[in-house]
Amino acid sequence: MGPKNSHIAYIEDHSGNGTFVNRVLVGKGRRLPLSNNSEIALSIWNNKVFVFFDLTVDDQSVYPKELRDQYIISKTLGSGACGEVKLAFERKTCKKVAIKIINKKKFAGSEREVDPALNVETEIEILKKLNHPCIIKIKDVFDAKDYYIVLELMEGGELFDRVVNKRLKEATCKLYFYQMLLAVQYLHENGIIHRDLKPENVLLSSQKEECLVKITDFGQSKILGETSLMKTLCGTPTYLAPEVLVSFETAGYNRAVDCWSLGVILFICLSGYPPFSDAKNQMSLKDQITSGKYNFIPKIWAEVSEQALDLVKKLLVVDPKERFTTEEALRHPWLQDEDMKIKFQNLLFEENKLTALPPVSAQPSTSQKRHLEGEEEDGNADTTKRLAVWAALS
Ligand code: AMP
Repeated sequence: MGPKNSHIAYIEDHSGNGTFVNRVLVGKGRRLPLSNNSEIALSIWNNKVFVFFDLTVDDQSVYPKELRDQYIISKTLGSGACGEVKLAFERKTCKKVAIKIINKKKFAGSEREVDPALNVETEIEILKKLNHPCIIKIKDVFDAKDYYIVLELMEGGELFDRVVNKRLKEATCKLYFYQMLLAVQYLHENGIIHRDLKPENVLLSSQKEECLVKITDFGQSKILGETSLMKTLCGTPTYLAPEVLVSFETAGYNRAVDCWSLGVILFICLSGYPPFSDAKNQMSLKDQITSGKYNFIPKIWAEVSEQALDLVKKLLVVDPKERFTTEEALRHPWLQDEDMKIKFQNLLFEENKLTALPPVSAQPSTSQKRHLEGEEEDGNADTTKRLAVWAALS
């Protein structure tokens, strides 16, 4: 028997409409080699219908058995401060999910929080409690050597990639921003402040421009409860220091931090550049923000409606008590747009239709299963193992 790499799996294109491997067109009658996790699409590059798993590559045994029993872990989708996010397939249904791996060791060394485990647990606790179409849903959690958080998959990537050095159409900004506001309104109603809203933490459901958006990454979030300040203020203020009384004036406005961030996101989406930055500015970034002096480029804003700019202005208000709340923003004239709301309802309807599909049985055969679980191979299994598991993508 030859060495393992003497066998090459390839795909030959006999289709009428074109076949793509990892976005590359194969070409009629031509071949392209397949490697582990290659994605095969038909007609157009993003109409992905198959994924190729090379069973000679043992990339599953690094994951805990409980996770492997339920999911096949595939390519990396992205990475954040605490670890990687992987694409995975649920064995029972063949549905795609995202698995966020929180590296316990690496995370323990980060300066993100005094007790990192608490931080992750808070994030998990928050995500489990929440149920909103514009907030990422948690499907499962595996607490092993690392944390494995199974999340619904967002195929459109980050909002960040759609706004970096380019602007969105105003109608698209409105559709996205409306959803962000609904999500943050829901969070605030449930006593949660996100505290890290930015285009990187807004994920899109598809590659299409008109899609659902969902807020993610609750690693910095806070659950509002009775604070020690509140308890202090229940007593007599006779001995209370002035700074405590002053801080009471702004207590209860903590959630306004999210509305400021939403204002910054809306500014970026509409104009394609950030309101506050170090680049080409006389003022320090800190002074720009604390004075609320955003970088206004008339030529760019000339293409944006007055109503949209008005909403930005009402969110980027330095005094948190004067700043628009999510309710006020949702009542703003710019968002009284029935066509946009119908579009959103249709997208929701489409998503619910897809998630309600009956499960497809995609259990690997016994021999394939044996290998996936990392058992010993039999003598002449080399070529047979090369045969891929073809998983139909949901
Ligand atoms: P995070 O650690 O949550 O910041 O995620 C890191 C990156 O992984 C994100 O910026 C996304 O590109 C990707 N990602 C995170 N969650 C998902 C998801 N649910 N679906 C698809 N990609 C994701």
